[in-house]
Amino acid sequence: MTRLERLRELERSTGRPVRVALVGAGQMGRGLAAQVGRIPGLELALAVDVDPDRAAHAMRVAGRPDAATTESGAAAAIEAGRGAALTDAAAAAELDVDVVVEATGVPEIGAQVAERSMRAGKHVVMLNVETDVTAGLALADIAREAGVVYSIADGDEPVCAKELFDLAEEMAFDVVCAGKGKNNPFIPTATPETCAEEAARKHMNPKMLASFQDGSKTMIEMVALANATGLPPDRVGMHGVTAQVPELASTLVPASHGGVLSAPGRVDYAFGPAPGVFVVVTSDDATVAEEMTYLSMGPGPFFTLYRPFHLASIEAPRAVITAVLDGRPALQSEHWVAEVVATAKRDLAPGDVLDGIGGRHVRGVTYPLAEADGLLLLGLAEGATVTRPVQQGEPVPADAVETVPSTIARLRAVQDAARA
Ligand SMILES: [Mg+2]
Repeated sequence: MTRLERLRELERSTGRPVRVALVGAGQMGRGLAAQVGRIPGLELALAVDVDPDRAAHAMRVAGRPDAATTESGAAAAIEAGRGAALTDAAAAAELDVDVVVEATGVPEIGAQVAERSMRAGKHVVMLNVETDVTAGLALADIAREAGVVYSIADGDEPVCAKELFDLAEEMAFDVVCAGKGKNNPFIPTATPETCAEEAARKHMNPKMLASFQDGSKTMIEMVALANATGLPPDRVGMHGVTAQVPELASTLVPASHGGVLSAPGRVDYAFGPAPGVFVVVTSDDATVAEEMTYLSMGPGPFFTLYRPFHLASIEAPRAVITAVLDGRPALQSEHWVAEVVATAKRDLAPGDVLDGIGGRHVRGVTYPLAEADGLLLLGLAEGATVTRPVQQGEPVPADAVETVPSTIARLRAVQDAARA
């Protein structure tokens, strides 16, 4: 039986489709909403966004034009199959839905929605990798306690690259490097203002575009990949080589073989292979290496397994299906080998209140775990007040800011205590 057949079987046995709630109806959320509306056995039961029009729009693209728009009418409308479009994220945990998809991209909202939803017995799928790289182990622990699934969504680069990593391991290759092509040029000082014009042209949130250009998004995704595979970044910020796909197998390899890595077994990114993901592998078996060359994979000793696309929100519902059918995550942090550190985009002065990811103050940089000691995590930066100057380009020391109490900081403290 295919997965879609199993999904329809599940619908027949329970008498209704799997109910999906979406929190955050921006570009990613909208794409997911449309897909959930098209997959038999799934329905979008709830969309939540601070902007009521965006929430209602997500319900419409999911084939639910008559969604209720009031909290008081929501439960009955979901029961009747019309669904609801609301503005309060807490609704996802309270209403009768099976899987909550978090797509706000805001670490604190992601932490709140994930924790509450799992404690209310719902599976959680994160399009919000920002939350996961800050407190993913704590959230996975909560899922185990609650008997539900906590997963990063399919479709984003960390999951697509992890699939190649698993494929490589199953074929008994040694993974030398796993990573992604960077989609946007790297402009470390990009802000919503510098991105405004391009964002308007592309119908994007300028903060989101700034988080792509300033490198935060790539750094966050590669930390998620590092913590899922156990492969650390080679150095602060990784290498970020310029290389087309055929060159990866001679570039993202150890320096002893003419590449840039200090040792095999790293995560990294490259300018060239976007929007694809890759793993560079090798085998110490002469027969296998010879066979790979025969199979047109190059001269060796390193070979690149490459997937030329990642379909983001379009693939994301697969993680919903995996959670309800198989009771397991598509991707989850199992190691903790890397962090995303807040780095000053401009000179920071006492009294500055840091804005969030893709804002004016800080960007994310990938750090090997041991080198991140004493530094402010990007996921904990928003709302923190600077207490002493930090120069542009420098990592923000944790003791150079006063952070605000938050759910994500509490979860992170629990995670740190569990690992200590
Ligand atoms: Mg991505």
